[in-house]
Amino acid sequence: MGYLFAYMRNKTDFRVAAFLFVSTIMAACLSGCSQQKYSVSFDAMNTFMTITGYGRKSEAAVKKAQTRIYEIEELLSTTKEGSDIFRINEKAGETRETSVQAETAGLLAFARDMAFSSEGAFNPCLYSITKAWGFTTGQYTVPDSLLIQELLPGTDYTKLKVDSHDGECWVGTIPGMMLDLGAVGKGYAGDQAIKVLKENGITSALLDLGGNIQVLGTKTDGTEWNVGIRNPWDSTVCAGLKIADSAVVTSGGYERFFTADDGRKYIHIIDGTTGCPVESGLAAVTIVCESGLHADALSTAMFVKGLDGAAEYWRLHRDFEMIVITDGQDLYYTEGLEGRLSVIYSFSNVFVIR
Ligand code: FAD
Ligand code: MG
Repeated sequence: MGYLFAYMRNKTDFRVAAFLFVSTIMAACLSGCSQQKYSVSFDAMNTFMTITGYGRKSEAAVKKAQTRIYEIEELLSTTKEGSDIFRINEKAGETRETSVQAETAGLLAFARDMAFSSEGAFNPCLYSITKAWGFTTGQYTVPDSLLIQELLPGTDYTKLKVDSHDGECWVGTIPGMMLDLGAVGKGYAGDQAIKVLKENGITSALLDLGGNIQVLGTKTDGTEWNVGIRNPWDSTVCAGLKIADSAVVTSGGYERFFTADDGRKYIHIIDGTTGCPVESGLAAVTIVCESGLHADALSTAMFVKGLDGAAEYWRLHRDFEMIVITDGQDLYYTEGLEGRLSVIYSFSNVFVIR
């Protein structure tokens, strides 16, 4: 890693530091709060979400944003009968075209482009594999390698077609192909919720969509939001980040995983080349950029790529910032975060990716 600059941090009592940091965030938030704050928490997309808006009419705006998230779930869910994605997956045995709403087609076109751009690290066609490992039902199992080999041809994202003709949008799939937008759905929902909030006059808002953080504007006092990055090894905050008008999206193996009889830990993010849970040496990847959709896709893709692949991708694109935490407790961050990121936990090493 010739491009990396390293420095060691002193050992500190990170728990005390984390407590102080969280207290500071709370104090900062309280000072920015006014009577015009409205907050709603709810379950959607199988996770817990909170939307907080500030300003006149914030209650109506926040409720509309919540409704928009439910609409997106109805469209994209792999489990809700009748959703566009459910209808595509239902006939996975055939080569076929399925008529879908323009919104689903647009999102699938984005997902296919991200698959090409990341050389398959992000792959929206892995649902048959995710199912075989039991991540969709919680009935976890290590599938037979022959079954994985049978399923892999159906995960070829280069065969996914998104088209429009006869006044409708169509998605073309090959036999065995099953789609899953779980790695981008929350990010897209965040962007759409922010759009609704803006359309309804809100200029300051904080969204926590199952760990995907998205902020609109600054806090009401004009200062940036302080967002905590979760420590992958416990539930404390390991770093803080100052942001405005941004998404901060993390992918990690520490929330959805199982330990099999062989004693190995298998996580929910799949390496499309092997059909197995990815082992890239990373504990978590956080992406920072304006679009929640882009950040969500990238967090999954960079997690699959691993440290060197992610750093190489960043150097090629440079349209996002990134924090990578390795299993060996090193933290790497891209140079655009210098001055905005405060590291609290005593990582083994902290490096800047340039
Ligand atoms: P991310 O890294 O953002 O995404 C990982 C998820 O993407 C995996 O869980 C898998 O679904 C998929 N994936 C795995 N590997 C790859 C890869 N290489 N490329 C692309 N995608 C990959 N969960 C339920 O258990 N039941 C539900 O009914 C349910 N409904 C949902 C409805 C919607 C609309 C959405 C967006 C999510 C839903 N989920 C549901 C959650 C979903 O299955 C994922 O667990 C969740 O989105 C993971 O997000 P993440 O931020 O933790 O990880
Ligand atoms: Mg993601």
